[in-house]
Amino acid sequence: MRILVTGGAGFIGSNFARLVLAERPTDAVTVLDALTYAGNYETLRPFEGHPGFRFVHGDIRDASLVDALAATHDAIVHFAAESHVDRSISDPGVFVRTNVEGTVVLLEAAHRHGHARYVQVSTDEVYGSLGPTGAFTEQTPLAPNSPYAASKAAADMMVRAWHETFGLPAMITRCSNNYGPFHFPEKLIPLFITNAMHDEPLPVYGDGLYVRDWLHVEDHCRAIARVLDAGRPGEVYNVGGRNEHTNLAITGLILRALGKPETLVRHVQDRPGHDRRYAIDAAKLERELGWQPRYDFETGLAETIAWYQANTSWWGPLRERAIEAKRAAANRVSSRG
Ligand code: NAD
Repeated sequence: MRILVTGGAGFIGSNFARLVLAERPTDAVTVLDALTYAGNYETLRPFEGHPGFRFVHGDIRDASLVDALAATHDAIVHFAAESHVDRSISDPGVFVRTNVEGTVVLLEAAHRHGHARYVQVSTDEVYGSLGPTGAFTEQTPLAPNSPYAASKAAADMMVRAWHETFGLPAMITRCSNNYGPFHFPEKLIPLFITNAMHDEPLPVYGDGLYVRDWLHVEDHCRAIARVLDAGRPGEVYNVGGRNEHTNLAITGLILRALGKPETLVRHVQDRPGHDRRYAIDAAKLERELGWQPRYDFETGLAETIAWYQANTSWWGPLRERAIEAKRAAANRVSSRG
């Protein structure tokens, strides 16, 4: 199968490309990525020279580029997105343009070229927030609370429409929070690991009792591969690790693993519209497609911490760039008075 992987220079897409190249010798992968602040070509450099790999630097909203690529591929696995909730609060427009309009460009091309498979990588955030008990199923009504989640929910509706109206064999996966190697250091787990390594404060939103259901990125990628191969067109599959932890608990685990003091924890002002709890019921994926997560959280987190310790050359420049961008933004605000 010739698979067009959008957003493959990002966290999950690059892990998916690595999995396909390592374990599916009859498949080929073309990564289409605009290399926004979140994309990093260095992640893909080790694939150079692999006969099944190609990289195209481009935007999913570029309809003629996407059309030309769709003409020479059999399937699209769509990861490309603006994915950071905080950024969707400060600049929502780009989330609509990339996440909604970009998805429509891909759907049109997949339909025009008669693709046999299309997988939309979505998120559990489309379901909104949970109380202290229960879990999201595929029947849970969509109730997105952030501009990011709303843009992903809108994209999911487009995918549904392309299946219902045009018969596109499209599936949607909705996953909980991922962790693992090659995660951009502005996200919670890599931010906290890299800050702790620098003896810098770990900024915990509000009371820190927000609960997330953590899934190792490799388990997520294996789920996507199962859906690509055997998912039923038109269906949604939830993907989750049954690994609920509060942000504060994760912070403690990271500090202890790195031998750093609890005094590094800083409670900071909460994010507006912050969802209290997410938990995923992945029973449909387990029952229908035989998927099971392989990682337990303790092993996965320990391996992830070890990966960040061993790969400072990957995340160091990204961290420097993020710090520089924050400094520049703060200077712009102070010069406005
Ligand atoms: P990421 O931010 O690490 O990567 C996104 C990639 O998309 C980057 O390489 C970026 O350059 C690229 N991109 C952005 N706009 C583009 C455009 N217009 N054209 C082409 N490429 C573009 O994201 P991620 O964490 O790897 O998430 C991948 C997908 O999984 C997203 O759709 C996200 O909504 C979803 N998801 C992520 C998580 C998580 O925990 N990270 C959980 C559930 C779902």
